[in-house]
Amino acid sequence: MSSSADESGMLPTFVYHPDPVATGSVVRAEVVCACCGQVRPFGYVGPVFTAETMDGRLCPWCIADGSAAGRFDAVFTDVYWSVPADVSDEATEVVLRRTPGFSGWQQEHWLHHCGDAAEFHGPVGASELAEFPDAIDRLRAELSDGMWSSPAVEGYLRALTRDGQTTAYLFRCRHCGAHVAYSDST
Ligand SMILES: [Zn+2]
Ligand SMILES: [Zn+2]
Repeated sequence: MSSSADESGMLPTFVYHPDPVATGSVVRAEVVCACCGQVRPFGYVGPVFTAETMDGRLCPWCIADGSAAGRFDAVFTDVYWSVPADVSDEATEVVLRRTPGFSGWQQEHWLHHCGDAAEFHGPVGASELAEFPDAIDRLRAELSDGMWSSPAVEGYLRALTRDGQTTAYLFRCRHCGAHVAYSDST
């Protein structure tokens, strides 16, 4: 391991979570990994759902190769609901057991598009979402499905913040490039 290399470039590849440092699920901090026992320059700070007791943090490498999921019988996204029928079991397995999860206000879930799990791009608010009208349209459609009036929906969308009490979670389709999002609150 070269000490002059850019360490973030050395993170394992997560096809469904391409930049877990940017999303906040992995932090640049020295950890002794609870799985491999090695001192690593990055640690995973997202959720770990496991039946076994696990002390300390995991390194991203043990998530990527499945060793942490195997050793601790762990998944990194709690419940995988609403999986479309055309998504392969392999994709579901990779998201659950080999992909860093993320922390939402409520139970997190992964979004899908074009028959595959989508890439997670992090928590976002109204200002970040402004770049992604397709994601806003999806949020608006979901909210309008309920009992909300149109002004209430627009007010809710404007109030979304990355770090506040109502947050959206942004995903990007790996196939067509569409952005999709869902939201939750405290
Ligand atoms: Zn490790
Ligand atoms: Zn798509």
